[in-house]
Amino acid sequence: MNIKLSEIFYSFQGESSLVGNPTVFIRFSTCNLRCRICDTKYSFKTGEELSIEAICKIVLRVDCNYVCITGGEPLVQRAGLLSLIRRLKKSGKIISLETNGSFCVTGIPVYVKKIIDVKTPSTGCAGSFCKGILKNMSAGDELKFVISNKADYNFSKNFIIKNRISGIGCKVIFSPNLKIKKMGNRLSDWILADQLGVVFGPQLHKLIKERPVRLI
Ligand code: SF4
Repeated sequence: MNIKLSEIFYSFQGESSLVGNPTVFIRFSTCNLRCRICDTKYSFKTGEELSIEAICKIVLRVDCNYVCITGGEPLVQRAGLLSLIRRLKKSGKIISLETNGSFCVTGIPVYVKKIIDVKTPSTGCAGSFCKGILKNMSAGDELKFVISNKADYNFSKNFIIKNRISGIGCKVIFSPNLKIKKMGNRLSDWILADQLGVVFGPQLHKLIKERPVRLI
C-alpha cells in the first residue's frame, strides 16, 4: 500500500505534552480543510507516493524513538495511515498523530497519542469538529485550540465547558497564534483570570528558527 507524503524530516516536537523531544515527522499530503492560518499549504499539492516499507526505511535511518504523523490531514488516507501505524509500532516507535478534528478517530490504536485540533473561528473552519471524536478519546490524548483573538478564546472556553471535557481527562492546550502581536501575554492573562486549568502551549517551532533535517 502506498501513501502520498509531502515530507519526512527530523526536528523537535513543537507542541503537545511531547514538546521539545527530538522527533521524526511524517507529513501526509492533502487536506480536506482550508484554514486561513495554515502554514503547511505546500502539503496540499506537493508530494510523492511511497510504500509503507519505504517510509519505514527512511524513518529508521534516524536513531529516534518518537515519530509524529502529521499533515495536511493524515486521516484523508485512513487505510494507509492505519497500516503505517501498525508497522511503526512493530519497530518500537512512540507514535503521535496530529489531526484537524474533522474526521472520526475510531480504529486509531490507543497506543497512539492523538493530538486533535478544534478549529477556532479565526481559522474559518470552526464547526468542522467531528463530535464523535469525544467518545473515542483516551486520557493520553490532547485537544488543541489555536487562539488568535478574544472571540477564539471565548469559543474555546465554551467548547470545553459545554462538552464537559474535564470529565474525559485528556489534556487541553490553548496555543497563542504568535503571529498576532502580544497574543501570548493576552492569552495567558485570560486563562489565569478564568482559572480554566488548561495548558498554555506556545508552539516551540514558532519560537525558534527551526532547522529541520530533511529525510525526503
Ligand atoms: S487542517 Fe491543518 S493542514 Fe489543513 S488547512 Fe487547516 S492548518 Fe492547514
